[in-house]
Amino acid sequence: MRTPFVAGNWKMNKTISETRELVTALTLKLKEIGGVEKVLCPPFISLAAAAALLEGSGIGLGAQNMHWEEKGAYTGEVAPAMVKELCGYVILGHSERRAYFSESDEIVNRKLHAAQKVNLTPIVCVGETLEQYESNQTREVVSRQTSQGLKGVTSEFAPQIVVAYEPVWAIGTGKASTGEAANVVVRDFIRPAIAELYGQQTAQAIRVLYGGSVTGANAEEFFSQPDIDGALVGGASLKVDDFYAITKAAAR
Ligand code: PEP
Repeated sequence: MRTPFVAGNWKMNKTISETRELVTALTLKLKEIGGVEKVLCPPFISLAAAAALLEGSGIGLGAQNMHWEEKGAYTGEVAPAMVKELCGYVILGHSERRAYFSESDEIVNRKLHAAQKVNLTPIVCVGETLEQYESNQTREVVSRQTSQGLKGVTSEFAPQIVVAYEPVWAIGTGKASTGEAANVVVRDFIRPAIAELYGQQTAQAIRVLYGGSVTGANAEEFFSQPDIDGALVGGASLKVDDFYAITKAAAR
């Protein structure tokens, strides 16, 4: 049995004081929901404030990115051990990082290995662009991102990885995929790519999320699919009632 997983990616939203307000409101609402791994991912600068408020809440904290090196002359970057002091999770290879910051599969893989070193649970994002979707390249792109991005970690660490299937054309557009179509990608492309790396057992143990315009209204459609274990939520994670509804749907 895979424990359902819901993570909120706040992206570049909320100041430190706004983070305190939103975390406080979410903590109150989400505490009654059990049986779901819940994670909030505010911007780096707000992680310390969020960590203090989340203590004992049963809600985890994640960063949206990190560098792969341990430390050194990388102005503006944040090292894995720095993230680890505050967080249990880190999002890696989000499509916005791939598109605007030139993150390749190789970079994502280096970051994954860095996460393993400090024992952070990585949420690795994969997904095809609209152009790739329209030219029937979904299988090729998603399989490649999964096998290149996830390769080379230990068989002990691999089951801890969380994968998020996020079709780029569905992110922030209000045009979510369908539960059935997303399930096909997870079942036929992502889990087989993981199985090739780590075997069938690990491929079945790893949580795979859907992300892309998930709301309280459509979450159930994705969570009722056998291969989808939760959601990575962008816009709706900034709205208390929506994120609550999504988390509640994951618990069912
Ligand atoms: C995301 O950024 O990971 C995401 C899924 O965004 P949204 O839910 O806003 O589409």
